[in-house]
Amino acid sequence: MTVSALEFTQELSTNPKSASERATILANPGFGDYFTDHTAVIDWKAAEGGDAQWQNARIEPYGPISIDPAAGVLHYGQEIFEGLKVYRHADGSVVSFRPEANAARLNLSARRLALPELPEELFLESIRRLVALDQDWIPDGDGAALYLRPFMIATEAFLGVRPAREVSYRVIASPAGNYFGGELKPVSIWLSSKYARAGRGGTGEAKCGGNYAASLIAQMEGEANGCKQVLFLDEFNDNAVEELGGMNVFFVFADGRLVTPALSGTILHGITRSSVLQLGRDRGMDVQERKITLDEWRDGVASGEITEVFACGTAAVITPVGQLKSETEVIGSEDAKPGEVTMSIREQLLGIQTGTVEDTHGWLTRL
Ligand code: PMP
Repeated sequence: MTVSALEFTQELSTNPKSASERATILANPGFGDYFTDHTAVIDWKAAEGGDAQWQNARIEPYGPISIDPAAGVLHYGQEIFEGLKVYRHADGSVVSFRPEANAARLNLSARRLALPELPEELFLESIRRLVALDQDWIPDGDGAALYLRPFMIATEAFLGVRPAREVSYRVIASPAGNYFGGELKPVSIWLSSKYARAGRGGTGEAKCGGNYAASLIAQMEGEANGCKQVLFLDEFNDNAVEELGGMNVFFVFADGRLVTPALSGTILHGITRSSVLQLGRDRGMDVQERKITLDEWRDGVASGEITEVFACGTAAVITPVGQLKSETEVIGSEDAKPGEVTMSIREQLLGIQTGTVEDTHGWLTRL
């Protein structure tokens, strides 16, 4: 479907935040606490005897949505989402980082959750429309950005268990500062031994709400043990490292290897992950996507073979990992200094995103 076949209508907010309210929020946006004045919406209906279609594309004022209590999303969790950032560069241009990759991943998730695929052009146009209206909400400052949250929900009122025939796609936007707050310090990670977020054949590589609901109890356990994120392992595969609750993980070896768990079907295809792999290759590192076990992590840190561990994702970009804690052991140290390779890749990636380093891979899309 072409975008011209689906014109967006626009209803402006009658009570947008004032410039001074917005300035107060942007001075200290936190993460995910505030939302802009508008939202983009496109509905989908499976047409009787005809082709299903996307329709009624519109920009609306941001606000609560009305949904039937029998809507599929409320009962069977038929929902997917995305997360990407928009930056304002020094020359005033507004760009987003690899949005086509988010459009592709949304559709990977859609296929797994039996939701309709959204044409890439509609995904990009929904973002362009929303950001064009709400661009005064893009914060300045180191690593600050406007975080976009596209999502798709089953809205049909029907209690039978089958894919919904009515669906709604929406985009909301939220100004974002530093995800973990404060200065960049290595984070402690909790090793979840009781809980899994994904299993073979499950929804691990889809970005669906249920995966995150399943990870919350482990996250709570981690927080009770002083950790910011949780690491999940595949205990049926020699305790292979999978990913964190909301980030992928990388290991830097003393001999120049850069290793991350392979995409096994149970972990998310992180867009930051794929960018870091490319930057590693550009630097001539020996980049490996493969199985890496907890034993290799423990032994590698003990022998000095593994010199740095970091986590990566859109929200926190790249964050050094200080230590991995579990009920029985600690690997690494809380007082570890951020590693050199970690920080150098972080600077390069942030530089590309914010326009101070050349975008040689064409990762930025002007909105
Ligand atoms: N893993 C999980 C479970 C996540 O939620 C995220 C965040 N989307 C990531 C990895 C990192 O993905 P990306 O780099 O695309 O943000």
